[in-house]
Amino acid sequence: MEKLFESMYKLIVETSTNLPKDVRRAIYEAKLKENAGTRAAMSLATISENIRMADENVSPICQDTGLPTFKIKVPVGVNQLKIKEVIKEAIAKATKDGKLRPNSVDSLTGENSGDNLGEGTPVIKFEQWEKDFMDVRLILKGGGCENKNIQYSLPCELEGLGRAGRDLDGIRKCILHSVYQAQGQGCSAGFIGVGIGGDRTSGYELAKEQLFRSVDDVNPNEDLRKLEEYIMENANKLGIGTMGFGGETTLLGCKIGAINRIPASFFVSVAYNCWAFRRLGVYIDPESGEITKWLYQDGEDVDLSNPPANEETAASSDSESRVVTLEAPITEEQIRELKVGDVVRINGIIYTGRDAIHKYLMDHDSPVDLNGQIIYHCGPVMLKDENGNWEVKAAGPTTSIREEPYQGDIMKKFGVRAVMGKGGMGPKTLQALKEHGGVYLNAIGGAAQYYAECIKSVEGVDLLEFGIPEAMWHLRVENFTAVVTMDSHGNSLHEDVDKSSLEKLAQFKEPVFK
Ligand code: SF4
Repeated sequence: MEKLFESMYKLIVETSTNLPKDVRRAIYEAKLKENAGTRAAMSLATISENIRMADENVSPICQDTGLPTFKIKVPVGVNQLKIKEVIKEAIAKATKDGKLRPNSVDSLTGENSGDNLGEGTPVIKFEQWEKDFMDVRLILKGGGCENKNIQYSLPCELEGLGRAGRDLDGIRKCILHSVYQAQGQGCSAGFIGVGIGGDRTSGYELAKEQLFRSVDDVNPNEDLRKLEEYIMENANKLGIGTMGFGGETTLLGCKIGAINRIPASFFVSVAYNCWAFRRLGVYIDPESGEITKWLYQDGEDVDLSNPPANEETAASSDSESRVVTLEAPITEEQIRELKVGDVVRINGIIYTGRDAIHKYLMDHDSPVDLNGQIIYHCGPVMLKDENGNWEVKAAGPTTSIREEPYQGDIMKKFGVRAVMGKGGMGPKTLQALKEHGGVYLNAIGGAAQYYAECIKSVEGVDLLEFGIPEAMWHLRVENFTAVVTMDSHGNSLHEDVDKSSLEKLAQFKEPVFK
């Protein structure tokens, strides 16, 4: 069991810190398609650099390490209870070592278990098979993309596409719609797994299972193969692009499976996964517990740093982008000068705040003076060093739209001038930015190592009782780069991309598959 523990620990650490080869190849292809100097190219350069850093530092690619989900096939007679125990121990150790963020929260009290263990976490699913070895696969799928999963019940009416019927063409429309509705909020460019049929539960399970297929495999079902190819070709015409900034690549992979359904139901379920597609697998010898083979690691190696990921090139070669340095406290005048598309480099202090902090600030005073300050939507991975000082292990942005009900009110109440996260915010926040004089800054989702490197020190923490990801961390940063995507003049890049992609979606209204 000791060897098995080591093997499971290795699988968890590798999955969290090192993207598999098939995923790297898909990102490389996307890089080749983007025009140099665009915001999409800049994002992909940052993503590539982040992948390199995570691998080199053996640290999480993205701070949101999701709900660890294992799919295991075992020969008849193997003790599944023991395997479960070993996996739980390995998960707790990986969390303690900062390879996973403590992500398991009591659904009613909000209390974080601190070790990623709890009712329903991790998810471990067993299946028996006739072979004499174990196949163990793990996916770490974060909340930003998990929240963009969607399920359709056919027939239905779809925005931009009209009626989707109970046939292959209706399925085609649902899949295109699922990509449109995700916009950049699931950290596009993404991968989708699609499940056709089943009931609501098994449909979603099938969709997630598709994510365990290799990005470059070929569907053995001829109809589904054609549909996968069609989706890959056409979803990228929506122009949503990396991070929803617009661009050539919106989708990096599409895998579709089908199971039987009952006559009354026809579900199409879609599991959306961000570019930080952390899934790996191993074969294990059940006698020794040793890894005999790593999965998803066949085929060509690509050099993601080619063309080189360079922050200077990224920001300055975009002819539309002005580069502005910001340091809090920021005045209203400074903020009103910023326009959508400007690149900002932040120096000085920023404060993290996500779901629990926003809810708290609605009814309480802030533990720090937030006047003129920057709130960063982020739930970092933090560890204490040997001297008891906090160290940042991963610190990319979280999905901002969750704070939409609170954000505008909080900015006005405390005088906050900038909020930073990913995926953009809605009309209520846009209105508040206009009235109060504020901006929304979009950092590159998933670039947890890249941003951790910009954090020079942890100056303090408040409300740690909410748990590490939810506390308010005071971070001193240098050259922390983000893009203004909503300004104080009523402009929103997210609104523009949504509108233009909806118009493009309408070109796919006519039937394609009979
Ligand atoms: S890359 Fe984005 S969507 Fe994916 S886990 Fe990280 S924050 Fe969530």
